[in-house]
Amino acid sequence: MDRNTIQKILIGIVLAACIFIGLKSFNVLDVENTQTRPEATNNISSSRMTYGRFLEYLEMGWVKQVDLYDNNRNAIVQASSPELGNRPQSIRVEIPVGAGQLIQKLKEYDINFDAHPAPRKSIFITIASNLLLPVLFIAGLFFFFQNSDNFGSNGGNSPMSLGKSPARFDERPATGISFNDIAGIDEAKAEFEEIVSFLKEPERYTLVGAKIPKGVLLVGPPGTGKTLLAKAIASEANVPFYSVAGSEFVEMFIGIGAARIRDLFKKASENTPCIVFIDEIDAVGRERGAGIGGGNDEREQTLNQLLTEMDGFKENKGVIVVGATNRVDILDAALLRPGRFDRQITVGLPDRLGRIGILKVHAKNKPLDEDVSLVQLANRTPGFSGADLANLLNEAAILATRYNKETISKKEVNEAVDRIIGGIAGATMEDSKNKKLIAYHEVGHAIVGSVLEHHDNVEKITLVPRGGAKGLTWFAPEEDQGLVSRSQLIARIIGTLGGRVAEQIVFGEPEITTGASNDLQQVTNIARQMVTRFGMSNIGPIALEDSNNEQMFLGGENEGISDRIDMEVCNIVNHCEEVAKEIILNNRVVIDLAVEKLLDAETLSGEEFRELVSSYTVLPSKK
Ligand code: ADP
Ligand code: ZN
Repeated sequence: MDRNTIQKILIGIVLAACIFIGLKSFNVLDVENTQTRPEATNNISSSRMTYGRFLEYLEMGWVKQVDLYDNNRNAIVQASSPELGNRPQSIRVEIPVGAGQLIQKLKEYDINFDAHPAPRKSIFITIASNLLLPVLFIAGLFFFFQNSDNFGSNGGNSPMSLGKSPARFDERPATGISFNDIAGIDEAKAEFEEIVSFLKEPERYTLVGAKIPKGVLLVGPPGTGKTLLAKAIASEANVPFYSVAGSEFVEMFIGIGAARIRDLFKKASENTPCIVFIDEIDAVGRERGAGIGGGNDEREQTLNQLLTEMDGFKENKGVIVVGATNRVDILDAALLRPGRFDRQITVGLPDRLGRIGILKVHAKNKPLDEDVSLVQLANRTPGFSGADLANLLNEAAILATRYNKETISKKEVNEAVDRIIGGIAGATMEDSKNKKLIAYHEVGHAIVGSVLEHHDNVEKITLVPRGGAKGLTWFAPEEDQGLVSRSQLIARIIGTLGGRVAEQIVFGEPEITTGASNDLQQVTNIARQMVTRFGMSNIGPIALEDSNNEQMFLGGENEGISDRIDMEVCNIVNHCEEVAKEIILNNRVVIDLAVEKLLDAETLSGEEFRELVSSYTVLPSKK
């Protein structure tokens, strides 16, 4: 019998039991019983008395008749007394255990009494009612634990199911996600379309001797659609989909992670063809022996089990393991060996066209006004992941609801972008010297950014505080920049310094504020990377640090190298500060005008700003 049948039978038993109990509690089955129950007598009275009181009644001679029930545990007493208004009444008395001499007493007082024997239940009912509870209990327990591992991650928490895989298991996933719902990651999609066709007709591949990868590793930053892709294959190929997060495997107790992996693959191989999706695979698959402490043993065992399982199915019978991570660099090399995750697919942040595609997917079920241009929106959102874009449109829809609108207009979309980039808007500042200083600071960024040919265009200047910033100037790159040139980096440094330099020139050295600390950090960061990573200084084309700011080993030449780095960084920053000063001084008139306008309006768009500036200065055309 397979498990489904067992479960059906169990459900049947439990249901039958419930019906039985229900009927029993309505006395439907206890026909015999009903007739002898004291409650059923017509002259029933709801009055009761205690046993002690009943003995008093006996002694007083007020008792006329006693009917005993339930093996002499209950009695209906016919009595009349002054306190009962001398009218005969039936009163119920519960007789305590051990009141064995009652019959003796009744005889003594010469009371008319009768004992009604307990009804003889049918054998069936007796057995059933005695066995029912335990059977029900056991069946219930059994049923519960049979199912606990199918009910998602909770199952993993109950102590009885330790070692059971916490994988969420969909028999035929109605995720409803198809390849049409995924945009902007076409290469990965093409790769997966192939896998789907293998799952659908494996013979076509095995016929020509083609081997299908057992493991596919999706590598990319969070929110780029890795989970979405895995779900899409499962539903496109109409196969079961097991999904589990690597972090769920890393438990406190040694051996549990490994047991879960074993269990997961057992389940998967019973249901081929299918997809096993392991999210955050780096949580299990980190390079072995790389850390300190006992927790590692557990992870290593889990990883070893995973490797064993993946080697286990020699010929791919249709379990395809899809892993997702954004840290392929820390994965254990053994995982990447042929026959395991031998195929890697990079899922990067979407480019402009990709973003348009993704926005279109998510705009499908949202009523957008005609003035909302998805193309423009895509232009404004370089660096956004698919999840960010989905979130953006959702935020806009929420705002529209808040304003009681039936469609989403440009206003809500813009506000959503501002929120996501800058955080929630705060209250604007009171007019004060501080506000004026911030205005000069922001216009300083904007003017420097505008006159530099290699700087991104100003998108918006605002004095509405967002997140931690008191004011903000946004720049929007026209195109996605895969590679960044030295001129662009230098322009970025000059533009970022523009804020502080404007404060200095307008208010004087003693008045400058702490508001520029973020800017300075960025400036130093860019300059330092130019020196240590990109070979853009007098030190020459040498990589001195890797992307994690770890120093790279430089043989014997290491002498004084860090002093030289610092010197080069200072050179770059000083040069850029000079340029920024020059720009601010040369444009002082228009800066004052722009500040006045900004203090008035609180927000200036890029076009408004450029229009103002271009009547005083010739602005470079930007590519
Ligand atoms: P990941 O697994 O890479 O972290 P997900 O697949 O969980 O990212 O994506 C989260 C959500 O973001 C998805 O449910 C979807 O709404 C949206 N999304 C991400 N990438 C895309 C894409 N390429 N196309 C359409 N929607 C996307
Ligand atoms: Zn600034």
